[in-house]
Amino acid sequence: MTNNKLNYLVLHCTATPEGRQVSKDDIIRWHTSPVNQGGRGWNRPGYADIIYLNGDLVNIIPFNTDDFVDQWEISNGVVGLNGNSRHIVYAGGMDRENKHPLDTRTKEQLATLEVYVKYTIKRHPKILVLGHNEAPNANGKACPSFNVGEWLRSIGVPEENIYRKADTEVKKESVASTATTTAPETNETDV
Ligand SMILES: [Zn+2]
Repeated sequence: MTNNKLNYLVLHCTATPEGRQVSKDDIIRWHTSPVNQGGRGWNRPGYADIIYLNGDLVNIIPFNTDDFVDQWEISNGVVGLNGNSRHIVYAGGMDRENKHPLDTRTKEQLATLEVYVKYTIKRHPKILVLGHNEAPNANGKACPSFNVGEWLRSIGVPEENIYRKADTEVKKESVASTATTTAPETNETDV
């Protein structure tokens, strides 16, 4: 039995300075170019979708509407969670000097992200939404540079869709006790 249920929607930032455009092609290049050409050398990018500064929503890795993460849908956003997650990123997340994490979401990005989160919950009523920094393997990352739980509450997302740390621990235990194979997972790092 495999466990490739879509359990998590993980929010990210590109960790680029406020006001700087980042395109889908930038993400693909940064993540999949060989390491000796300045990329990370991954086989797949880290996010399924990106929200541009002007609020445009652009798909990077296609996915279908069911409750499972197929191999072809995987994005490498958080090591250990990718087989059960969808990853969405907004362009920004650092101050203009590129020194400190900052919530740089534009009015347009805020509007798009709210629609995106709420639509994803309508599609997948049991999904849990979290920030990269809340994931078990976040390794001290600030991404996405805002308090996701607080923001979700402020836009009226139901409590049952807001991730708490214990949620992954419970799910991991139940997976460990029942599954004989692990979720589809690439063993690359994260962003
Ligand atoms: Zn991230």
